[in-house]
Amino acid sequence: MVRKTHEFSHPLRAHGLRSTESARCLLTLLKNLEGPATAKMIHDRLEGRGCDLATVHRLLGRLERAGLVQGSHLKGKSRWYELAEEGRHYHHMICRRCGNIDRFGYCAIATLSEKVRQESGFGVESHSVELFGLCRRCGQKRHPGGDRTK
Ligand SMILES: [Zn+2]
Ligand SMILES: [Zn+2]
Repeated sequence: MVRKTHEFSHPLRAHGLRSTESARCLLTLLKNLEGPATAKMIHDRLEGRGCDLATVHRLLGRLERAGLVQGSHLKGKSRWYELAEEGRHYHHMICRRCGNIDRFGYCAIATLSEKVRQESGFGVESHSVELFGLCRRCGQKRHPGGDRTK
């Protein structure tokens, strides 16, 4: 359930965007999800708010360009979106068995980028790091005799 909110009016205007109800609802939804979602998932949640899928796509594109939303390619062909936070970004752990996506908010790439710049003169502007493997639950299923109690 997405409630009416004006929480995002200011950030929207500060980024030169119109503070429409659909934009505010979308940002509130992403905030409450605390994880990435595709345009389709967002559209399903916003159903009944006069926002068709094409509008959700357009809105997400605009919000991403404005830096209010972070978009990543995680799995499948869709782009995954989540609320961007000032001064931080997220990377993801994608379980190749159950498809669960978890995220972490620390990043070691800044140090690496600086090293690359010094050594090769390449100016890094952005990066993408996604980790693929087995989540804790799936990892334990694979080793049923494992350290379940720890
Ligand atoms: Zn899993
Ligand atoms: Zn990073």
